[in-house]
Amino acid sequence: MLNINNLHAEIQGNMILKGLNLSVKSGEVHAIMGPNGSGKSTLANVLAGHPDYQVTTGEVIFQGRDLLTLSVAERACAGVFVAFQYPLEIPGVSNVQFLKLALNSQRKYRQLSELDALDFLQLVKTKVQQVGMEEPLLYRSINEGFSGGEKKRNEILQMLVLEPQLAILDETDSGLDIDALKLVAQGINAFRNSADSGQKPGIILVTHYQRLLNFINPDFVHILFDGRIVKSGGPELALELERKGYADLLPKAPSTE
Ligand code: ADP
Ligand code: MG
Ligand code: MG
Repeated sequence: MLNINNLHAEIQGNMILKGLNLSVKSGEVHAIMGPNGSGKSTLANVLAGHPDYQVTTGEVIFQGRDLLTLSVAERACAGVFVAFQYPLEIPGVSNVQFLKLALNSQRKYRQLSELDALDFLQLVKTKVQQVGMEEPLLYRSINEGFSGGEKKRNEILQMLVLEPQLAILDETDSGLDIDALKLVAQGINAFRNSADSGQKPGIILVTHYQRLLNFINPDFVHILFDGRIVKSGGPELALELERKGYADLLPKAPSTE
């Protein structure tokens, strides 16, 4: 469903992604780990279509289409979802209104009829329960005054409502206490196993911590370093990383002598 070939991307003239390759098939979970500053969030932003990032070389094919030519809105409607590392607060826009608008825009793009208010509310309340969120949060402004854990859970709620084909979750586990982590993992697992919309989704899970992978067993683990995937393996790679740290697993810097 997703093929990233030789992706190079820069921000303000700094090359951050330097030839990244990744293939994700429907139903697969790919964990991406890597030291701070290696380009994990840059990858998420480039896939979302963030305007500050310029792709200089390479291609991204999503379900047979050139993703990079689509606008941010088209990508979202086509089924690409990004849960951001730092979810934005949007004062004045209620969470529930936003979800309804987003879902119905997507349905319109796919030439489906809009959900009426009642059906929508029923759907969203089921999803709210799945992530263990307090219902009153639906009626507040998006993320405004939400705790860190509530913001992360709200990202997962958006994902469950929109049922994307490809979900990129950028450090959704960071800043969560153990109970919130379990709920978020539960929500992601429910989504992973849902195929009511036909094809199973592909998931890219950016994380620093093995602990999330205790709850969500990935099919593949990749280490992103200096803008490239330098090592790939199965779940055992994350365990090895936890034991040894990056120093032992990363390519050594070339000697300058
Ligand atoms: P990660 O998510 O792996 O920690 P990022 O993708 O956030 O890494 O960042 C990769 C590199 O890009 C870092 O060195 C960061 O400082 C740089 N970077 C990110 N945003 C900008 C920006 N707006 N301007 C310049 N450099 C940036
Ligand atoms: Mg980081
Ligand atoms: Mg990051």
